[in-house]
Amino acid sequence: MSVYCPCGHRISEVLAPDGNRADFIRDQDIDALSPHYGKLIDSFVDACLKGKMDRRIWLNSHFGKKYPDDIRNSDIIWDIRNNTCFEHTGKMYLCGQCGGLLVEYKSEHYKYFTSSDDAELSFVGQ
Ligand SMILES: [Zn+2]
Repeated sequence: MSVYCPCGHRISEVLAPDGNRADFIRDQDIDALSPHYGKLIDSFVDACLKGKMDRRIWLNSHFGKKYPDDIRNSDIIWDIRNNTCFEHTGKMYLCGQCGGLLVEYKSEHYKYFTSSDDAELSFVGQ
């Protein structure tokens, strides 16, 4: 996927780590997602660590049969987090040409911010 900066520069997504991209979740979405995320984590822990369900059956029902078996539990929890947050994650891109910042305010729609004096703030006070 690519995003075009108003300066004309094409910003292409690259595999992580992408030094020009950041993902964010709005605070209101975190509050809304937290119970759902917690429920999935509890379900996984109950299934796999407390033996309430076979791990493979749990993986099949949540990620499908193609999801690998030889994956660490921490990676599964990371995938649960990513799947839970996916539709609520916005993207920001820093343009490598003009230094402008593009912030996704709704799906695939961006607002452009730039500084006219190249100000770099290290701290924003109260
Ligand atoms: Zn630009």
